[in-house]
Amino acid sequence: MSKTDETHRETRLMHYGRGPLPGPANPPVMRASTVLHDTVVSYRDTKARRETDDAVLSYGRRGTTTAHALAAAIADLEGGEACFLFPTGVAAVAGAIAPFIAAGDHVLCVDTIFPATRSYCDDALARMGVTVDYFPWDTTDLTDHARPETKLVIVESPASQTYEVMDLPALCADAHARDLLVVADSTYGSGWLYRPLELGCDVSVIAGTKYLGGHADVMMGAVSAKGGAVAPLRRHTAMTGQTLGPDDAYNTLRGMRTLALRLERHEATALALARWLRDRPEVTRVLHPALPGHPGRETWARDASGTNGLLTVEFTQGFDTEDFIDRLALFSVGSSWGGFESLAMPCAPEAGRTYPNPDRTGPMVRLHAGLEHVDDLIADLARALAAPA
Ligand SMILES: *Cc1c(COP(=O)(O)O)cnc(C)c1O
Repeated sequence: MSKTDETHRETRLMHYGRGPLPGPANPPVMRASTVLHDTVVSYRDTKARRETDDAVLSYGRRGTTTAHALAAAIADLEGGEACFLFPTGVAAVAGAIAPFIAAGDHVLCVDTIFPATRSYCDDALARMGVTVDYFPWDTTDLTDHARPETKLVIVESPASQTYEVMDLPALCADAHARDLLVVADSTYGSGWLYRPLELGCDVSVIAGTKYLGGHADVMMGAVSAKGGAVAPLRRHTAMTGQTLGPDDAYNTLRGMRTLALRLERHEATALALARWLRDRPEVTRVLHPALPGHPGRETWARDASGTNGLLTVEFTQGFDTEDFIDRLALFSVGSSWGGFESLAMPCAPEAGRTYPNPDRTGPMVRLHAGLEHVDDLIADLARALAAPA
């Protein structure tokens, strides 16, 4: 791993976490709370070094070598100077916002944000005395939204459930000119399709529960950062006792070995489903960042390397989406996405938003294309649509 910068990222995915040889290809699962020393000097030295070096093994609450290997891998994928690990994606979102605000501050958040992040803003931040306002996804100039007490801008691109693509370089330039920090939720891109830190954001959050783990059996979140954002994050993460257990860290890194392969297939299958559904008479619109006419499609083509397994389908008014979902045999109903399995969920993305899109009026279903054969998934959709209502 000495020539990290010169190898392709597909190659780096295979080498993350490797120790000296002879040794295992994966970092061992190290379970530890207490780390033992034989001298006080050694103990003190460790405690001093861990304040600037995240790979120092000091105490289980700061993660063991398994979590350190994973953090280094995600930091590298994201182009971050450091990465901090959390037990869930939502914990990571909260842990990426809290270090940068205090009572009396004002936060700006994109209107198309993941609903749980919105709840955190409207509830937890409000109780801390922080005011939050929402701005439309296509904003690149914050003049009408920023206040003297604004500290932070929270973005997510593509948008949760509707996938509008933000112009992050333009928005970040404007935010930085106002001395505002930008925190991005990049779960959609998961460190592979999209790299917010390179586009100007200061902090990038990934719910690794989705594609990093990739097998519907791990919960975790990661916060990567660069520049002045790193030190406050490190301090706050340690202060609030956030970490990731060694087994979940191991499973996340194991999942990441196939991140590139899986995303390639998720993308191909989701696009095939999107194109097939678009032509159905029951469907008024398919929301997917790569389809012609999709809001921000050109920005996505400029800034990202691909799309994932998500698509949202708007049906004609009166279409019974719940009956349709129940008739699907290969798509199950369930929270989350990013695993190998196909999912279908009724969704109403406009419901909680400040600036809902008036053009979207029909009932919606969010699909996650898993790794099943695409022909089987299309046959399943066709069967469910053909069934008598
Ligand atoms: C799933 C998700 C989260 C939360 O992740 P959990 O691991 O379920 O807590 C945060 N942001 C986005 C965009 C997500 O899709």
